Amino acid sequence: MLKQNGHLNKRIHTIDWFKGTMGEPLQRVFVPSVTEDDGGSIGLGCFSSEDTAWQVLRAFLKKSEQMLLQACSVVVWDVDIVGDEAMTVLSSMECKDCPVCGRRTFWIDVDNFSALCHGTACSAWIEENTVDPEIIDCGWPTIRFLKQNKSIEEAVESLFKLGDRLKSAGESRMDEVRAQSLLEEQTND
Ligand SMILES: [Zn+2]
Repeated sequence: MLKQNGHLNKRIHTIDWFKGTMGEPLQRVFVPSVTEDDGGSIGLGCFSSEDTAWQVLRAFLKKSEQMLLQACSVVVWDVDIVGDEAMTVLSSMECKDCPVCGRRTFWIDVDNFSALCHGTACSAWIEENTVDPEIIDCGWPTIRFLKQNKSIEEAVESLFKLGDRLKSAGESRMDEVRAQSLLEEQTND
């Protein structure tokens, strides 16, 4: 019976399978957690589905501008197994200062070459191009900014330039930078 379920090691399908077998004991749990700047870890719960774990983590990251965080992860644990084989890191992200809004809310998934600012009204992002994986897209929805780049470094650099332009524009000409003032309103509340 266990052999037949080799696919269980792949994510998502697992949980549907368990749900479909009512009465089976829970065999895997999904644990989202964040690490604070001082190294302290905050567990966000322990869930029977990966989807729920992600929902809880994303909801928490929305509030991450109110605290200084360093990293986050979703880990799956197989129960009743001794040792570190019981644990698989599904995904981990690092938190950096956002190149555009400057807040510590820019979450980078290094494995998937993607990043997103969870700061209010910012949402600056970086993602691998869906058609050409050689291209790294980046953007800032507030002014529909979109740029294609050759590397993740170049994408980060593009967002930094945008952030710099917003800052300098904000100091000289206010009417051209509704976006910037919007950002500041959000920051002040
Ligand atoms: Zn931002």
